[in-house]
Amino acid sequence: MRKLLFQSLFRRPFTEPAPSPDDAAVTELATVLGRTARRRLGRSLSIREIDAGSCNGCELEIHALNNAYYDVERFGLRFVASPRHADVLMVTGPVTRNMREALERTWHATPDPKWVVAVGDCARDGGCFAGSYAVVGGVSEVIPVDLHISGCPPAPMAMLRGLLALLERADTAAVTS
Ligand code: SF4
Repeated sequence: MRKLLFQSLFRRPFTEPAPSPDDAAVTELATVLGRTARRRLGRSLSIREIDAGSCNGCELEIHALNNAYYDVERFGLRFVASPRHADVLMVTGPVTRNMREALERTWHATPDPKWVVAVGDCARDGGCFAGSYAVVGGVSEVIPVDLHISGCPPAPMAMLRGLLALLERADTAAVTS
């Protein structure tokens, strides 16, 4: 115990440096995203997050979107508790056999039009869990996927860029159809 206390006095913290206080890039990206959602949907974008078997690394980055630094709710992006209120399902992790039915039922419970975003490398093809007896595979093995955001885990900015690309694609499709 004494050794631990002594080490903690001199050891540098394990945490990474805090992000730069200049969050202009976040503000710009999230503002465009919120505006595009209102143009496409007439209201805020509602997101339901589903952990289909992740290690929780992707969840930590998704949760960061709601922390005091990113605070995306101020731009009109909301995380909702029910798939019945969602426009987007953000799914993380490889889909485990235990979560397969829950994921299917959540997808069916989400009203159309809906989009599915597979977040992280595991959500694409099982990632480092591929081949496990407990894993079905990537999200597209179970439900249709509209967008994949790669990374292990992807950073919050990558998720915002992905959501914007998704809405812009939907916006263009609506105009041309
Ligand atoms: S992509 Fe990486 S962080 Fe995300 S669930 Fe898989 S191993 Fe975890």
